[in-house]
Amino acid sequence: MILYKKIHDLQKRLQLLRAEGKTIGFVPTMGALHNGHMQLIETCKKNNDIAVCSIFINPVQFNDKKDYEKYPVTIDKDILLLEQNHTDILFWPPVSEIYPDGLEADFQYELGFLETILEGYYRPGHFQGVCRVMHLLLNIVQPDDLFMGQKDYQQCMVLGKLINDNAIPAKLHIEDTQREETGLAMSSRNMRLSNEGKQKATAIFQALNYIKNNISSGDVDQLKATAKQMLISAGFEKIDYIEICDAISLEPAKKIDPSKKYVALAAAFLEGVRLIDNIIIDVA
Ligand code: AMP
Repeated sequence: MILYKKIHDLQKRLQLLRAEGKTIGFVPTMGALHNGHMQLIETCKKNNDIAVCSIFINPVQFNDKKDYEKYPVTIDKDILLLEQNHTDILFWPPVSEIYPDGLEADFQYELGFLETILEGYYRPGHFQGVCRVMHLLLNIVQPDDLFMGQKDYQQCMVLGKLINDNAIPAKLHIEDTQREETGLAMSSRNMRLSNEGKQKATAIFQALNYIKNNISSGDVDQLKATAKQMLISAGFEKIDYIEICDAISLEPAKKIDPSKKYVALAAAFLEGVRLIDNIIIDVA
């Protein structure tokens, strides 16, 4: 694996590889890598000649400064994992390389409804920051394929819109959420949980599964209330949302239409750590 910190050096290498007819796959991350990331790298490698991973903790997507400061950094371990998984190129730029003119931006991405609900509502400015860094990274790497995780369901939808609106010639692949044996969705933020917290945190997956297994009742309010109670009983301190949405539009469901696909999503705090998860529900 070759590690690049400078855009210019990375682009020179990618240009050569492209001239040799190699296809480029891209897995953007914020580091503190786990098997969820590795699954993306593996699929990237299967679909492309060259797998490029980026590690960049993007300051402009954190609406909470403390969350940014506490974001885990495990670069030595990350490099080892990436090498073991046959990553070809790691792009690990400093903040000044990505934002040479500083962090302030005088432009807005038009995200419409997507920015008004769920993560968009509870993390104001978050998706603007995601779009800003992803637009830059996609212009730098110019991948044939982009690999992202369903774990960040709404983020995948935002990326789909970014790619579409800006006619970016990269194909977006969305990969399944990788979970611990307990059902807990793998996440870099899990590192900040105690062992007991990791056990309690499985309640998110159980609550989402409760909704999935009982969706045929059609009682959306009762499903959400019971799921919420499951999180409270498990010891979650604060629940941002538990929602059942149309899987395509992300419009919150008022009733269940058996011909539609839904997604149940949750965001909640445990031990001061904000965890998110979701599962797709095929009613039919
Ligand atoms: P992050 O480093 O958290 O920004 O995540 C980088 C990429 O990995 C994003 O596309 C995430 O959706 C994806 N990802 C994070 N956790 C998981 C997981 N448990 N399973 C699959 N993909 C994941």
